[in-house]
Amino acid sequence: MTAHKGQRSFPELLELARRLGASDAAHVAPSGICIEDELAGLCVEPQCENFGASANCPPHVLGPNGFRELLKIYSQAVVFKLEVPSSILFSPVERLEVFALLQEIAAGVEQAAIKIGQTRSKGFAGNCCKVLFCSDHPRCRVLHEGGKCRNPHLARPSMSGFGINVSKLMEAAGWPLKIAGEKTVDTSTGTLCGLILIG
Ligand code: SF4
Repeated sequence: MTAHKGQRSFPELLELARRLGASDAAHVAPSGICIEDELAGLCVEPQCENFGASANCPPHVLGPNGFRELLKIYSQAVVFKLEVPSSILFSPVERLEVFALLQEIAAGVEQAAIKIGQTRSKGFAGNCCKVLFCSDHPRCRVLHEGGKCRNPHLARPSMSGFGINVSKLMEAAGWPLKIAGEKTVDTSTGTLCGLILIG
């Protein structure tokens, strides 16, 4: 999907996402980002094991209502995806490396957007940065020491804490969602995706 008429497209950001490792990237309109309270509620019940573990996870993020407010100031967004073999998505260690890459791409595209003058740009990904980047530390520095994030160039919030419907996001980007292990579709790969609000 291309940016709406009158909006500036940033092909260099799509290219950067691909260069950093994304299988593909696309522009979407913020109106294509669907927020559902129930999805964010899944972080609480059944409670995710990472609930409260980092400054990028609920209850320390804006949540669905905050994200709806945030969206009002953006006129465009970039979505990117990673097509990942199911064997990796279900592995205990390699899957974490893939989620780390997902967060790294979101952070990289966000920072590139800021450099070209889109200074309010924000990246979102999946999983928990405490697990991905701070597993050698007992606690999140931001939450427990009042300090700066140890990994500002890598760590980004998970979309799940805001209730972002990833299936609809991928639909908005024009991509079919593959759920690893699902019997009705090709089970050899699954799709993860990340989001950068550009503005
Ligand atoms: S300090 Fe570690 S756990 Fe806390 S926000 Fe940064 S990467 Fe995440």
